[in-house]
Amino acid sequence: MMETANDKLERRLYSHDLAPLPKEMDLIFKTMPDQVVRPGYTEEVVQIVKKARAINKPIVPRGAGTWGLGGSVPVKGGIVVDMTAMNKIVALDETNMIVVAQPGITWKALADALDAKGYFLPCYPSSAPSATLGGWIGTGGTGIGAYKYGSAGDIVRDLEVVLPTGEVIHTGDKLVTQNGGGPNLNYLFVGSEGTLGIITEVTMNILPKPEEFRPVAYTFDDLKMFAPALKRLARSSVVPMHIMFSDKLHFDYLRAAGKHAPEVGCMITCALTGSKASVDVEEKLLDEIMASAGGKKASKETADHEWQERNYEFRLRELGFGAIPGEILIPIDRFDAVVEGTRKIVKELKLKAPMIGTVVDNNTAMLMPYYLTDEHKLVASTSAMGFAKRLGDLAFENGGRPVGLGIFFAGNLAKYRGKGGAKLIRQIKEVVDPYEIMNPGKLVETGTRYGISIPAFLMNFGMHAMGSFKRILPRDKMGEKELSKQHE
Ligand SMILES: Cc1cc2nc3c(=O)[nH]c(=O)nc-3n(C[C@H](O)[C@H](O)[C@H](O)COP(=O)(O)OP(=O)(O)OC[C@H]3O[C@@H](n4cnc5c(N)ncnc54)[C@H](O)[C@@H]3O)c2cc1C
Repeated sequence: MMETANDKLERRLYSHDLAPLPKEMDLIFKTMPDQVVRPGYTEEVVQIVKKARAINKPIVPRGAGTWGLGGSVPVKGGIVVDMTAMNKIVALDETNMIVVAQPGITWKALADALDAKGYFLPCYPSSAPSATLGGWIGTGGTGIGAYKYGSAGDIVRDLEVVLPTGEVIHTGDKLVTQNGGGPNLNYLFVGSEGTLGIITEVTMNILPKPEEFRPVAYTFDDLKMFAPALKRLARSSVVPMHIMFSDKLHFDYLRAAGKHAPEVGCMITCALTGSKASVDVEEKLLDEIMASAGGKKASKETADHEWQERNYEFRLRELGFGAIPGEILIPIDRFDAVVEGTRKIVKELKLKAPMIGTVVDNNTAMLMPYYLTDEHKLVASTSAMGFAKRLGDLAFENGGRPVGLGIFFAGNLAKYRGKGGAKLIRQIKEVVDPYEIMNPGKLVETGTRYGISIPAFLMNFGMHAMGSFKRILPRDKMGEKELSKQHE
């Protein structure tokens, strides 16, 4: 029997994702769903979609709600489809090295189950303890393992999807890679942000656990010393499965909050995988590359600790205030310019923002500055949008872009994809979702509760202006005050 929630308090919990919106936003968006449903299997999802079509209500697919761009938040009410009850592993095919799972399982639960059988996932988000398969694939995510094995789109073999018409399709081939035979339909849904259909089953590649798994870490005086090291690494034969980095302020904040964190400047941590002999060779080469860029090797304990912490970047949230993250993808060649630009934005908006990030492939870094604030307050929340807008613009000016569009960046579709590309994406949306019921008001437009969308120029102007408030107000010292209290 499918679970449903009509209770107001429970529905309220579904009216935000990682970044809560202040209640004043209700004037623009109807974020409160009319109903929340938790299907247990595909046929129930089909029934929900058919019902939504019949009563002409929007449907919003939702995983764990850990994304911060509003993808799983309604803009005009409707039915939120919470997929977390569809959390089973359907099959582990050890012969063909694939796993088939329902989309509501968390990455950590799946990784733990595979680990027990001697396998591991090629890539997963650092939010693995709570993020679901469907949510991360829906955002076209990147994450731990991406440098060696690729991001969400690269590890998916097949998706079962319930289309807005109620039809169930498969997008790929379970046993062989998608190549030719028409456009790659897996990729049509990877990064579609829940606007084209509901993913109800995922088939992915898995790998046998390597003989050796070794985290190694290097400290640097400044973030800007990373770029030469990363460029050298990209041109070498060393291919870590994962590369992540943090600046000094991130560690200072963690220590001030009473958490264990290394007393270092900035740090790059790499995870090497392979045979013991190949990892020995890679570590030696990596030592040389990092030393040539001014890096000093950290102790094994520090590297191991950083690896253990890879899924818990936002431990500061435990103190009860919000960490607003901005996430951008940038070319490594522009790393220094973007770090400099981010520091300028942070100063201009009177913030204090640690920077953390990962290296996605040999030319792409994911930079994630964050700052502490009370995100439930109107000014704090709106200025977060101003911060995100400025950061997104900075990424774009340097050949990159924000990690996704969601509600707030939807007006920039044409900017990021070009006019022709944006037109094609809109046409695809119209064909796949002719009744405009599947997660409307995101990705291709910023929708409102009134059924009209906010023009791109107005949305961009508004988001920029929201940050400008912050410039004239006194500095928000909330996070700092709390941290120093903890420190005493
Ligand atoms: C601490 C932290 C670390 C993070 N690290 C990473 C990282 O390393 N890499 C990264 O890419 N992101 C990261 N994120 C962002 C976020 O966690 C990921 O995007 C995450 O995978 C989203 O999963 P979710 O289950 O929370 O999805 P939700 O937030 O619930 O949904 C995200 C989007 O997917 C859609 N969706 C959800 N389920 C389905 C489905 N079954 N079918 C179709 N569409 C669906 C929703 O409509 C929405 O548009 C991080 C966030 C936090 C808080």
